[in-house]
Amino acid sequence: MPPQRLRLNDGHMIPQIGLGIWQVPEATTADTVAAALRIGYRLIDGAAIYGNEAGLGEGVRASGVPRDEIFVTTKVWNSEQGHDATLRAVEASLKRLDMDSVELCLIHWPVPERNLYVDTWRALIRLKEEGRVRSIGVSNFMGDHLERIIGETGTVPVVNQIELNPRLQQAELRDLHDRLGVVTQSWTPLGQGRSFDAAPVREAAERTGKSPAQVILRWHVQLGASVIPRSTRVEGLAENLDVLDFTLTAEEMAAMAALNENQRCGPDPLTFA
Ligand code: NAD
Repeated sequence: MPPQRLRLNDGHMIPQIGLGIWQVPEATTADTVAAALRIGYRLIDGAAIYGNEAGLGEGVRASGVPRDEIFVTTKVWNSEQGHDATLRAVEASLKRLDMDSVELCLIHWPVPERNLYVDTWRALIRLKEEGRVRSIGVSNFMGDHLERIIGETGTVPVVNQIELNPRLQQAELRDLHDRLGVVTQSWTPLGQGRSFDAAPVREAAERTGKSPAQVILRWHVQLGASVIPRSTRVEGLAENLDVLDFTLTAEEMAAMAALNENQRCGPDPLTFA
């Protein structure tokens, strides 16, 4: 089944399920990306800091899937924030990708202590106007950061890519996204496997004949989020895409909600620099 798509607030569509390529070695990225695209993935989540943009571009071209069917994301790293530095950073990403434009560019982290994220956002607005990136969004933004860039520029990000998994459910931030028209995108969606043995996950897996990872990915889909699990094995890639032929019941969704512990796997966006 092809991945479902979600509508972004600028009218473009984003596949709901994609492949994340953080920590995929540059040498094997092209093969992983091409394999994923051949089995049906259409969204690849990259970033300058992942060090594998050249492999991402190569994998897209090697896959045989038409470029206009593929949604490529990249991100501006913290050290490149600021208006002119961002313009240069995105050009450098496009060069490494060997692409004329990407479907989505995100500010990777807000880095509040540098106070450059509004200037960085203005640079992304300009790059969108110039057609170098089709849509623009943010990552790891808290409510205050979102409200500030929208207040100062009038441009609403299409996506906020945040850590989201059963132990960190971010209900308040997701509500704000819904009110602003921002798509929530979940990183570390499997939460380092820490909830695989939790009763609600195990029981839903037993009822549906799916794996714990598939139950958790299905939970993201039913929350309305876009989700970008990482796997480098073809079986894992296929497993993570195969979550559209079953539904978690309202009771199972409620039981999953009770797993929230507000515990992060990754850094705190307020302090991470
Ligand atoms: P993930 O939740 O996707 O988990 C990846 C781990 O789970 C790997 O060890 C993988 O082997 C294993 N796994 C994958 N599928 C599995 C399955 N079906 N069953 C059992 N184990 C399975 O974690 P992630 O890579 O941290 O996050 C996903 C993507 O999110 C990243 O690759 C990256 O693209 C993005 N990300 C973004 C940020 C950000 O700051 N914006 C931060 C971290 C990650």
